Amino acid sequence: MSSRLAIDGGTPVRDRPLPYARHVVDEADILAVADVLRGDWLTTGPAVADFEKAFAGRVGAKWAIAVSSGTAALHAAAFAAGIGPGDEVVTSPMTFAATANCVLYCGGKPVFADVQGSSCNLTPDSIEKALTDKTKAVAIVDYAGQPADLDAIHDLAAKRNLVMIEDAAHALGATYKQRPVGRWAHLTAFSTHPAKHIATGEGGMVTTDDEKLAETLRAFRNHGIRHDAHARARSGAWFYTMDFLGYNYRLSDIACALGWSQLQKLDGWLARRREIVAQYAGAFSRMEELEPPIQRPGREHAWHLYVTRIRPETLKVDRTQVFRALRAEGIQVNVHYIPVYWHPHYQALGYTHGLCPVAEAEYERMITLPLWHGMTRKDADDVIEAVNKVFDAYRR
Ligand SMILES: *Cc1c(COP(=O)(O)O)cnc(C)c1O
Repeated sequence: MSSRLAIDGGTPVRDRPLPYARHVVDEADILAVADVLRGDWLTTGPAVADFEKAFAGRVGAKWAIAVSSGTAALHAAAFAAGIGPGDEVVTSPMTFAATANCVLYCGGKPVFADVQGSSCNLTPDSIEKALTDKTKAVAIVDYAGQPADLDAIHDLAAKRNLVMIEDAAHALGATYKQRPVGRWAHLTAFSTHPAKHIATGEGGMVTTDDEKLAETLRAFRNHGIRHDAHARARSGAWFYTMDFLGYNYRLSDIACALGWSQLQKLDGWLARRREIVAQYAGAFSRMEELEPPIQRPGREHAWHLYVTRIRPETLKVDRTQVFRALRAEGIQVNVHYIPVYWHPHYQALGYTHGLCPVAEAEYERMITLPLWHGMTRKDADDVIEAVNKVFDAYRR
């Protein structure tokens, strides 16, 4: 027995659509921001340093440098890695375009290696195959919040004298072999966009253990000037020099106060995400039509995204139809990601379809179900109900 799908005019499971991701802001966050608004610094004041120190402490890195977005964090990391014209950077096709774009910003060439099907992460083997004598760095992604093989990739980078850049926009709070994401790579980039684990509106962070890299990152976000306004005000000096061409990628005190306050709640939020994942896993583990995501051994997954794959051979319809039917039920499913080099900008640069067959095949089957720390048990039950309803109608 199956009830009529909303896409066919039936009653949707939810009237108010459930987003695939969203932020949570509480009164403590609002008070933290209001405090900054009543103070002397709206940007580059004490709240920046406080947020950076707390963030570095949380991920076990020596330095954290706050910037205006996750994309700015990746750009800063690629610049600090010394990427320039003629340099190749091995990266993943299964990510948001910013991971590869940061290489283009610096005049370098992204080289896409294929991913492992189950995790959608790069593997040391696929990276190794993509290396040439022009490779200067690897820019890996912890897809959906699951760390890649960080020890083996770290060793590979060390052996080949490559800079290891890690796009950890999904992976704040994840660990690999008990060591937090944020202290494996030379440079780790995070995002504090509202869809991610903690929110500052727009925002990003780079962590590193290397003091020289940290200095370059700080100057890069401030036009290539090595002393910021806050430091000059404290020292009473007016003189500064612009040493290289940087940008204004600063993150405001307003945003950093929000980020600090959000960070205090990270552990509880990670636990909440794991609970929802367990609820989903219980419902989906014996479902023929759907492969739930799997957690590989040796890691604590940060569960930014809950990416499932459909098994097309069990269904009368394709992924697009399942996606539309779930959306009609009020479940704001998504797809992460269109292979980066399929985008017209990359096609115009000469990248062609077929480059990474595993990533392309997984992409065709993917559906991201809602997962965020403010979701209730009832929200997750609605998702499960909608998935059951849609597969009941479309089962072969
Ligand atoms: C969100 C995201 C980014 C970009 O972060 P912004 O803060 O939106 O600029 C980069 N890489 C990945 C994998 C992301 O998910």
